[in-house]
Amino acid sequence: MNKTIPTLIIAAASAIPSVAAVDKNFNYHVDRFADIEILRYEVPEFDRLTLRQKKMLYYLGQAAQMGRDIIWDQNGRHNLQIRQLLENVYTGYKGDRESAEFKAFEKYLKQVWFGNGIHHHYSTDKYAPGFSQSFLEAQVNALPAYKLPLAPGETKAEMMATLMPVIFDPAVMPKRVNQDGTQDVVATSATNLYGPGVTQAEVEAFYNAIKDPSDPTPVSYGLNARVVKENGKIKEQRYHLDGLYGPAIAKIIYWLDKAKGVAENPAQEAYITKLIDYYITGDLRLFDEYSILWAEDTKSDVDFVNGFIESYGDPLGMTGSWESYVNFRNAASSKRTEIISGNAQWFEDNSPVDPRFRKPSVKGVSAKVINAAMLAGDAFPSTAIGINLPNSNWIRAQHGSKSVTIENITEAYAMASHGNGFNEEFVIDAPTRKLLDDYLYITDMLHTDLHECLGHGSGQLLPGVDGDALKENGSALEEARADLFALYYLADPKLIELGILDNPEAYKAEYYKFMMNGLMTQLNRIELGNDVEEAHMRNRQLIAKWALKHGKKQGKGGKDVVELARKGGKTYVRINDYEALRKLFGQLLGEVQRIKSEGDYKAGNELIQTYAVKIDPKLHKEVIERYSKLDIPPYRGFINPVYTPVTDAKGEITDIRISYPENYAEQMLRLSRDYSPLTK
Ligand code: ZN
Repeated sequence: MNKTIPTLIIAAASAIPSVAAVDKNFNYHVDRFADIEILRYEVPEFDRLTLRQKKMLYYLGQAAQMGRDIIWDQNGRHNLQIRQLLENVYTGYKGDRESAEFKAFEKYLKQVWFGNGIHHHYSTDKYAPGFSQSFLEAQVNALPAYKLPLAPGETKAEMMATLMPVIFDPAVMPKRVNQDGTQDVVATSATNLYGPGVTQAEVEAFYNAIKDPSDPTPVSYGLNARVVKENGKIKEQRYHLDGLYGPAIAKIIYWLDKAKGVAENPAQEAYITKLIDYYITGDLRLFDEYSILWAEDTKSDVDFVNGFIESYGDPLGMTGSWESYVNFRNAASSKRTEIISGNAQWFEDNSPVDPRFRKPSVKGVSAKVINAAMLAGDAFPSTAIGINLPNSNWIRAQHGSKSVTIENITEAYAMASHGNGFNEEFVIDAPTRKLLDDYLYITDMLHTDLHECLGHGSGQLLPGVDGDALKENGSALEEARADLFALYYLADPKLIELGILDNPEAYKAEYYKFMMNGLMTQLNRIELGNDVEEAHMRNRQLIAKWALKHGKKQGKGGKDVVELARKGGKTYVRINDYEALRKLFGQLLGEVQRIKSEGDYKAGNELIQTYAVKIDPKLHKEVIERYSKLDIPPYRGFINPVYTPVTDAKGEITDIRISYPENYAEQMLRLSRDYSPLTK
């Protein structure tokens, strides 16, 4: 369960510095409907890849798209039939495409495409159609018989009797994943990971009977199976070549096999072979063997995930939703993380903490920075900006995991946010907005690098101190430690010397954003009347409020280092002395490190309770009101680029071309036409 979900706002960047060759005219915006915005992402550096790598990405991309129908069917047993019906009505519609009823129908279809089914991708609530049942019935009646997606032996009347309540009756299949523990979460969830009539108690009894609690290396039970009741008996229907979803899995295997032929090295070839064997047999031991080989391959440039991975879609958290990410190393940005990791000892030796709490010998973690080349299944259109896999706990402990940041997706979010009015509303003045425009993107990325590669790994506990001594405050204080380490070093001349920043003032952009977020704008994500709960949010408020308080009258000329200023009836963060703010961050880092190294629960708890939890209700209300006036879509997702093989007279591939020609509906209709092994 390891995804980094983007915050709704990554404040904008108009001038992306030389991190990668970004096309400033690239059009990120594709479509907007309901609570969704559709973007496209650019794949920078694709053209620098070798032909062999491009072919590999192409084959893996085909394997990714061939799984699309699987996630639709996992999400609900009527989804594929509904998709075909809606698409046939949509493409064959002869009436006024500008009419209110058709527009409502189109919006619904776009939502269904986004949810990979009839439920919202995030809330998992069923979408409410804004058009009438009689409208849809009339359109279905106008379809020629061969356009009706009838199940084997099914009549049109039977199909309509089944599907109309599923689409229109709010009481039928209302939620895909019900997590209300007071109910039978299996029986009340619309997901198709469980067959009709199966209860939670039956599923739990089934797995309890086959699990061996003494097994130190257990398989991920239920990861690749639908649980059904047949003649009163509970059993698994495994997903594999000769089992459930076989026709789609056959296509996935076909393209994985092609990819294997152009693998970058024997280690990669070995894990693709293992993955194919697993898809053929459905044997979860093979999946574990594959996961180990995959986690240990840190050399390959081209990389991918393809399988039943995350279990958020299962109310019992066992079965993996099918997904695929195809990607390759972002050379320029990975160089940045390599430089940082390579100088880990210097950062450790110079950190503003008591020398007793420093690590005598520190190893930087080299988190990889990648570009996504294809997103599919549960990772499409809604997707994450960071991934950490595999999920199996014992594999992570014994063999490690891969942590990646997806740079081109992060970049697309940032670029697309530009001009959404957020900075104009919350940033105090034009010079500060300019500072953010120029330097927030690069310093935000660097902050993440320093936090992940160095911050968490820095420092040491004094002998005999229990790592869990800070108890319930442990995660918030740990995040604060990593953030403070990153903030402190962002302003260090060492970054200029290492060539990863080109302006000694650049850090001010991240400082401003951090303080504005910690003191104000992150409050938008909390309901009025509630406290701050989530560890990362507590950490940010802790740092920002502590610096606000301890900087009173401590800045140049006796001014406050940071203040909450009122302007035109609104509240803004104003930073009067950035250098003094850096000193405060260093001071707090020293204290948080001391608390951690000594296991001082009492002092840690006092910091959290004093600064991290409570919210000023007046300011909270103001932030929510100002935010709601901005027309910012709560959810965003992506369409993929199109990859086209170029062949010579003998049919050999000589190049793979990348292009971005489609709009949202065009891409969805093409995928349904060319990549739907379960509906043909
Ligand atoms: Zn962290």
